[in-house]
Amino acid sequence: MQKKGVAILGSTGSIGTQALEVIRAYPDRFDLQVITAQSNARLLIEQAKQFQPNAVVIGDEEKYQEVKDALFSEDIHVYAGAQALCQVVEFHEVHVILTALVGYAGLKPTLAAIEAGKDIALANKETLVVAGELVTERARAKGSNIYPVDSEHSAIFQCLTGEFHNPIEKIYLTASGGPFRGWKANALKNVTPMQALKHPNWSMGAKITIDSASMMNKGLEVIEAKWLFGLKAEQIDVIVHPQSIVHSLVQFQDGSIKAQMGLPDMKLPIQFALTYPDRLKTDFPRFNFLDYPQLTFEPADKETFRNLQLAYDALEAGGTKACALNAANEVSVQLFLEEKIGFLDIARINEKVFLETPFITNPTYEDYVETDRIARELAGL
Ligand code: NAD
Ligand code: MG
Repeated sequence: MQKKGVAILGSTGSIGTQALEVIRAYPDRFDLQVITAQSNARLLIEQAKQFQPNAVVIGDEEKYQEVKDALFSEDIHVYAGAQALCQVVEFHEVHVILTALVGYAGLKPTLAAIEAGKDIALANKETLVVAGELVTERARAKGSNIYPVDSEHSAIFQCLTGEFHNPIEKIYLTASGGPFRGWKANALKNVTPMQALKHPNWSMGAKITIDSASMMNKGLEVIEAKWLFGLKAEQIDVIVHPQSIVHSLVQFQDGSIKAQMGLPDMKLPIQFALTYPDRLKTDFPRFNFLDYPQLTFEPADKETFRNLQLAYDALEAGGTKACALNAANEVSVQLFLEEKIGFLDIARINEKVFLETPFITNPTYEDYVETDRIARELAGL
């Protein structure tokens, strides 16, 4: 079997480091070609020495010399800057790009990879939120496959395997509810970044952890699901499931529901995105039903957690609405992490920017770039 050439954008993050564990476990299956990081030069260098990729990219150009010097005696190309991401994804030896970088920064390299006809293992959900219509249209045109890494979307995809010809009636995305499940506005007013960064079931990067606490993550996932599976808003339901064992469900036209279950561990969806349609043997801990005698489900509180409602509104409106919402959220989450605004201000800023950013119905790539810029400016005020 020919080895699969893999590029990992964002190899130093939560998804990126877990992806490297998957790559390490199957040396005869994968050929790691490229790894990239924004600013963590130290870890990138360590990973490069260990995994010997063909090339590395450090986003922060000021760290170029440090990385270059450290890898001087290795046979590894070193590049720097955002533009380099768009070039390394085009390398002939790269077959699949795992987009494990965070936020809007994923859009451009993902589009470049698609234009080069490569497959995408998509963790970077923001790319589909910002420009899902453009990204999926280009992927269809270029014959590039987009394999979901997000656990909920991987669950849907696993349920659909063998069922692609059967229409979906609806899907249920499960949500853990985060650290503030059941809380109301009064209590949420004064929560600190430290409290919000404590996710009950998953250990993830800071941005997605705050998004999980504010339910924005589930909102982004609703939009992500629309584009991945070609669904309408009314076909996507969110159900809170605090144990995070049922990763999501698909309901078919005959009323049958399929669910995908397992212990929460991102290595499984990462691996499936890279090995589909095969399932490889793992030594991950196995689920024991008797450890979880009760799996529970409850409705999502879209009134308290406004971000989830905003995401549905963006989905209904189409055009550049979701792009504006995403940009606002990237800024407001950053402001919250810097303790410049309160927790409830995240959704307040998001809503304001969602309403005020000029709307374009049929956007081009340049329109998305401009919308992102304007929305960030509005959110920062
Ligand atoms: P993280 O913050 O842990 O890692 C982000 C990675 O991207 C790092 O390697 C960083 O160097 C790089 N990066 C950051 N900003 C960049 C920029 N501007 N340009 C280029 N590279 C940049 O994040 P994460 O938790 O691994 O999440 C990555 C993506 O995967 C996000 O879109 C997130 O929503 C999605 N995701 C994560 C999880 C999870 O369990 N962590 C689950 C589902 C989806
Ligand atoms: Mg998820």
